[in-house]
Amino acid sequence: MKTIDRTKPVLVTGGTGYLASWIVKQLLDDGLEVRTTVRNLSQKDKYAHLTALAVKSKGVLQFFEADLLKKGSFAEAMKGCELVIHTASPFKISGIKNAQKELVEPALEGTRNVLETVNATDSVQRVVLTSSVVAIFGDAIDIQKTKNGIFTEAYWNTTSSAGHQPYPYSKVQAEKLAWEMAEKQSRWDLLVINPGFIMGPSLTKRTDSTSVEIMIQMASGKFKTGAPAGNMSFVDVRDVAKAHILAGFTPNASGRHICTSADKSFLELADVIRAEHPEFPLPKKFVPKWLFSLIAPLIGFTRKYVKLNVGFDLKMDNSYIKKDLGIEFLPFQKTISDHFNQLLADGIIKKP
Ligand code: NAP
Repeated sequence: MKTIDRTKPVLVTGGTGYLASWIVKQLLDDGLEVRTTVRNLSQKDKYAHLTALAVKSKGVLQFFEADLLKKGSFAEAMKGCELVIHTASPFKISGIKNAQKELVEPALEGTRNVLETVNATDSVQRVVLTSSVVAIFGDAIDIQKTKNGIFTEAYWNTTSSAGHQPYPYSKVQAEKLAWEMAEKQSRWDLLVINPGFIMGPSLTKRTDSTSVEIMIQMASGKFKTGAPAGNMSFVDVRDVAKAHILAGFTPNASGRHICTSADKSFLELADVIRAEHPEFPLPKKFVPKWLFSLIAPLIGFTRKYVKLNVGFDLKMDNSYIKKDLGIEFLPFQKTISDHFNQLLADGIIKKP
């Protein structure tokens, strides 16, 4: 049981990110004092949206420079904070050349770096870590090994490596390290949020986020001859941000939290967009697995990935987060519709 003082500053790592920007916005709207880190303070365009949000909000925002791989770089930002929300971590699922350098090191060593600073900062009482459902399973086929055909917080990803599914590997390695470090001390407690695939409107016009890329690919007709079969677990970015804040301030909250709202296929995602925007070249059927496997290397997926992931329906049990944090999720239709309309309004997606 921990009551976090709402008058103390809250640190959010990696404020420029798709998810972190929403966490910063919601904290500011609640009137809190927020600190966030960026990799390079001189790149003001990367965080101008946050400066603008702060002006319109009841809260106060301060920027600090920090890099996951620079030891001690989070110390100044963390001074005097009771709550640290550690969300910065690279999120990439294609175009990876050196998985160890691009994903595993920043995720793992970054978590070590941030938590070593937490250990050295007496004011910190609670850490909320952004993990992922991919710290729970490695490939969608793993659903077949579950007891009741559904993933709960009791499961861990045991199948990923730097060579196969490096992003899931980076997340499970980082989350395990966080639990190990939390258990070695008693001043701060650790809460983990394990989001599914995050969608929903972005507060920036950045296109280098994987969640935005999927929408751009859908709209461009990349999947018009067919979408890969199988259900993914989706969640709205605004709900994931809310979950982090509830985790930070709910005294009795504890543990890992699967944070998903709906298990849906890419075809169902396309159907939501089509209902409002029928002019886009969206998929209307699933592509046969053998055909997807044939073209997979050309679109950035290995054949092993296709074998173990395409055609399996993920099912996530989100009952614990609803009970522990009292959160209600936005409907999938609203998430997808709001996201697509934001990308259209910002000129990132253009009508054909
Ligand atoms: P994003 O928009 O790409 O944000 C990633 C953030 O991490 C950016 O602020 C980035 O800073 C920062 N970062 C990366 N490498 C860094 C480094 N070496 N030093 C300092 N900061 C660094 O991705 P996101 O979707 O918001 O993801 C945020 C978190 O949610 C990640 O932990 C991710 O694993 C997790 N997550 C995401 C999803 C999803 O579907 N989006 C699902 C589950 C979990 P720059 O702006 O400088 O690049």
